[in-house]
Amino acid sequence: MNHDPTTPAVPAKSDTVAGNYFISNYPPFSFWSEDQKIEVEVALNSEPAPDTKLGVYHHIPFCRKRCHFCYFRVYTDKNAKEIQTYLDATIAELKSIAERPLLQGRKPHFIYFGGGTPSYLSAKQLHELTDRLKAILPWDQAEEVAFEGEPGTLNAAKLAAIKQVGVTRLSLGIEHFDDHVLEINGRAHRSGEVYAAYERARAENFSQINIDLIAGMVEETEALWQRNIEETIKLRPDSVTIYQMEVPYNTTIYKEMKAEGKLVAPVADWMTKRRWVKEAFAALESAGYTIGSGYTAVLNPKRTKFVYRDELWSGADLIGLGVASFSHAAGVHYQNLTEIDPYLAVLKAGELPIKRAFRTSPEERMIREFILQMKLGHVEFAYFIDKFGVDISQRFAGQLDHLAAEGLLTVSDTGVRLSRDGLLCVDTLLHEFFLQQHRTSQIV
Ligand code: SF4
Repeated sequence: MNHDPTTPAVPAKSDTVAGNYFISNYPPFSFWSEDQKIEVEVALNSEPAPDTKLGVYHHIPFCRKRCHFCYFRVYTDKNAKEIQTYLDATIAELKSIAERPLLQGRKPHFIYFGGGTPSYLSAKQLHELTDRLKAILPWDQAEEVAFEGEPGTLNAAKLAAIKQVGVTRLSLGIEHFDDHVLEINGRAHRSGEVYAAYERARAENFSQINIDLIAGMVEETEALWQRNIEETIKLRPDSVTIYQMEVPYNTTIYKEMKAEGKLVAPVADWMTKRRWVKEAFAALESAGYTIGSGYTAVLNPKRTKFVYRDELWSGADLIGLGVASFSHAAGVHYQNLTEIDPYLAVLKAGELPIKRAFRTSPEERMIREFILQMKLGHVEFAYFIDKFGVDISQRFAGQLDHLAAEGLLTVSDTGVRLSRDGLLCVDTLLHEFFLQQHRTSQIV
């Protein structure tokens, strides 16, 4: 429906309007500041807390094409030399951090290559990059090496290289199986590339192949979504991750909405997206999958883990490398500079490329882990008593009673369990647990 740009319709409660709904950290990013950059040095120069796992995130900010729903820092115009300069800079960054006391005597327990499109790198670049990373921080104790791949970039040689460098989980950014939906949303790949990449990846015998889908892309329909579920189940990946489409402010979709004076995004409303994920979860359960979080289904929960997610959500140190990457070190959150040229220049000058930081208090760390673990669908009280000396049932009694009365969760003697409806809208429930000063609509 087209509205007169001068009189935009008031969005209904369930309409998808611009903004982020997904909560990936706490306190919210809007509270991180340049003033606290000094805290990063303090954190890196401290001794590691006993039994704290270490992870490394490596950001590859290059893509073949910018998707219309994308809000990440990505570049679609860099040549091989520029990419090499960037990779060299990430190595310099890791070298500098690995010398600090916080990393002494530690090896990463998990590694994650995200983007952007890590599979945009050539096989040669991948081998060289990972050899250099391993020479600084060996991967021999890594339980998981995760890698995001865009189907159109995954030829046989590339997949062989990804396997050879030690990747255990390959996550395929399929998003949708319909060529028209892929095209209208600006994706670079088409369904033919999806099936070819999946078959080749299976032939490489990765320990885990994950398929990413998005419920509610532009021009999604009931029939197409059902087909998405059927095609996914036919491929029988080890795990499936489904996100509900959000339209952050810096996306192409939002820019078009703004130009046309629209307040409501041209995608399904939240009730419909939740129902689509609910239907997908039910179908996946019927096909033998287990729901492992508000976004994931796994075929064999004993064998198939999400180490990166689980460790990060229980307080691991994470060293983020690359432009705009996020880190969590000894209780300090920080984010790197978000533009590639300043990122390169600052590293060249021998400094760490930090944009903003936030030192968390013990209470904030407790809340962070609680809200992140709620996304798994269950939280155990004993964990919080042991780790933080906090009885969640008392600390959050009011909020838990309220959400229980709404049928969104149940509270037992041992913990909290979200209902399926609660799990499907978990990100909207978590603000209730924020400290008063962090309850703001601005979460990015
Ligand atoms: S492939 Fe991913 S990172 Fe790249 S433009 Fe699309 S959504 Fe963004």
